[in-house]
Amino acid sequence: MEIRKGIGVSPGVAIASAFVLETEEFRVPRRTITPEQVDAELARLDRGLDESQAELEELRRGAVNQLGTEAASIFDFHLGMLRDRSLLKQIRETVTEKLFTAEYAVATVLRAHAKAFLQMSNSVLPERVRDIYDLEKRLLRHLLGERRETLEHLTEDVVVVAHDLTPSQTASLVKSRVMGFATDAGGRTSHTAIVARALSIPAVVGVADISRDVAAGDTVIIDGNRGVVIINPDELTLEEHRRYIREYTALEQELDELRTVPALTKDGVHVRLMGNIEFPNEVETALEKGGDGIGLYRTEFLYLGSEREPTEEEHYKAYEQAIVAVRGKPIILRTLDLGADKWTQRQREEPERNPFLGLRSIRFCLQNLPLFRTQLRAMLRASVLGDMRIMLPLITSALELRQAKIVMGDVMEDLEEERIPFNRSVKLGIMIETPAAALTAPTLAKESDFFSIGTNDLIQYTLAVDRTNERVAPLFTAANPAVIKMIKDILKVGRRQGIDVSLCGEMAGEPEYTILLLGLGLRAFSMTPPRIPQIKRVIRSVTLEKAMKITRRVMTFDTDRQILNYLREETRRVAPKAFG
Ligand code: PEP
Ligand code: MG
Repeated sequence: MEIRKGIGVSPGVAIASAFVLETEEFRVPRRTITPEQVDAELARLDRGLDESQAELEELRRGAVNQLGTEAASIFDFHLGMLRDRSLLKQIRETVTEKLFTAEYAVATVLRAHAKAFLQMSNSVLPERVRDIYDLEKRLLRHLLGERRETLEHLTEDVVVVAHDLTPSQTASLVKSRVMGFATDAGGRTSHTAIVARALSIPAVVGVADISRDVAAGDTVIIDGNRGVVIINPDELTLEEHRRYIREYTALEQELDELRTVPALTKDGVHVRLMGNIEFPNEVETALEKGGDGIGLYRTEFLYLGSEREPTEEEHYKAYEQAIVAVRGKPIILRTLDLGADKWTQRQREEPERNPFLGLRSIRFCLQNLPLFRTQLRAMLRASVLGDMRIMLPLITSALELRQAKIVMGDVMEDLEEERIPFNRSVKLGIMIETPAAALTAPTLAKESDFFSIGTNDLIQYTLAVDRTNERVAPLFTAANPAVIKMIKDILKVGRRQGIDVSLCGEMAGEPEYTILLLGLGLRAFSMTPPRIPQIKRVIRSVTLEKAMKITRRVMTFDTDRQILNYLREETRRVAPKAFG
C-alpha cells in the first residue's frame, strides 16, 4: 500500500482499478487465475513475448536499412530486455506464484523496473524509462490482442491515472465508467478540475509522478476530499473508505433537503445562488440543487473536443436547450473564452509561449471576427427565448468592451435586415477577472449592465500564479489580502453605480469564503451546481450583522494564513458541518 498526497479538486471517494491513460491506450484488469490455468497462462505469455520479439527484430531491420545501425540501436535495448533472464523470471513468478494474468504480471513488473531505474541518479536513465514504457505497451498489445478495452468502451468501472487531462478529455468522461481520476499536473481552478466538480467525479491533481508509479490494474482509492491517492490499499483501508463513501452519500442526501428552502441569512437577507455550467444539460442539475438560475455558461466547451468550429445552428441549438431548461430563470451566456488551458485544434497545433497571457478570450474573438459574429448571431437569436444575458470574458479595457459592442451592433443590424427576431435590449455584462478591469471598474460600470467577478483569473493575474501549475498551487489563494481588497472595491463600485455584481469564480462555491463574501456585500453567488446546498447551509446559519463583523476583523489581518484559519474557525462555529 502506498499513500500519495496531491490537491483534492473534486470531492468524494472512488475505489476502482486503474486505467493509466498516457502509457497504454487500453486497460489491464487486475485479474487472477486458478493454479490449473498457470500452464496455459505461461504459454500465452511466451506467445506474447515471441510476437513482440519478432516485431522488434523486424523494426530493427527496417531502421538499419533506412537510418543506419546507430539509429536502430534503440531497438537493441528493447530486445535486450526481452531476453533479460531476471526480468523474465520475475514476470513468470508473478504468474506462477501470485496467480496473476500474464498482462497484469507484465504491467506490474515493468512498472517496478521503470521506478527502480528512475531512482538511480544517472541522466541517461529517464530515456531508458520511456523505453520500458514503450516495451510494456508493445507486450500488452500482443497479450491483449482484440480483448483490448479502450477508454471509450469500458466494461468495468475504473479510475483514470494520467500525467494531465485536458478540459475536453475530462468532459468526455461524462457518463463513462470513470469513477475518479488522479493526475501528475494541475491546480484547483484549472478547467480540468472545474469540469470534474461539475460532473461530480472525485479527483486529485498535482500528485507528483502518479502516472509513473501506478500500474494498470492496480486498485486505487481517489479521495478527493483529502487530496489523497492510495495505491493498492490493504483490506482495512479499503473498508474504511467504503464506509466513508456511505457516510458521504448520506451527507449529500441530507444537504439536498435544503433544495427547496430559500437562501436567507438568519436575519432575513436574501442571497441569489446560481449554477456555473459547461454544457446545456447541466442546467437540470443546477435547478435540482436549488439554483436560482445560471450565472455562467462557459460556451467555449462547444468548441472543445471537436476538430471543427460549431456552426451558427449548433450554437443556437445548445443555447435554446439551456434557456428552455432554465424555465424562465435568468441565464448568463458568456461569449467564448478560448485560449489559455482551453484550446481548439488550431491552437493546439500552434502553441503560444505563454498562453494565459496570450491570445485568449475576448482578444481571440476580436481577432477572429467571423467566429465571434457567428456566436453573437446565435446568442442574439436565442435572446428572445427567455431571460438571457450576454457576458464578455477577460476584459482589460473600455476599448475592448466598446469594440465588442460595435461588433454586436453590427450583428444586430444584419439580423434586423433579415427580419430575424432578437431582443434589442438584451443585457450585456462583463467579467471582472483582470486587475486592469478591477482598477477601472468605475469606468467599465458606466458601459456595462452587470459585472461578474471571475476570481479564478483575478487571483492568477493579481498574484502572478498560474492557476494550472501544481508547483505553485499553495500560492494560489483567494485569502490573499490583495484579492480581498479587489473584491471589496468591485462590490463597492457596483453599489455606488447601481449595477448588479455577482461572483462566479470557484471561490463562490468554497464554504470558507461564504461569510466573508456576504460581509463584503456580495448577494449573488454562481458556482458549480453540486456546491449550491453546502453554500446555502452556511448562509442560513449566519446573520448579516455577524458576517460584517467577521469581515471587519478579516480586513485587519495581513497574511492569507491568518485569514483562512480565522474564516474556517468562524465558519465552523456558525455551521459545524460546513466542511462535511
Ligand atoms: C474565472 O476566471 O473566475 C471564471 C469564472 O472563468 P473561467 O474559470 O472560465 O476562466
Ligand atoms: Mg476566467
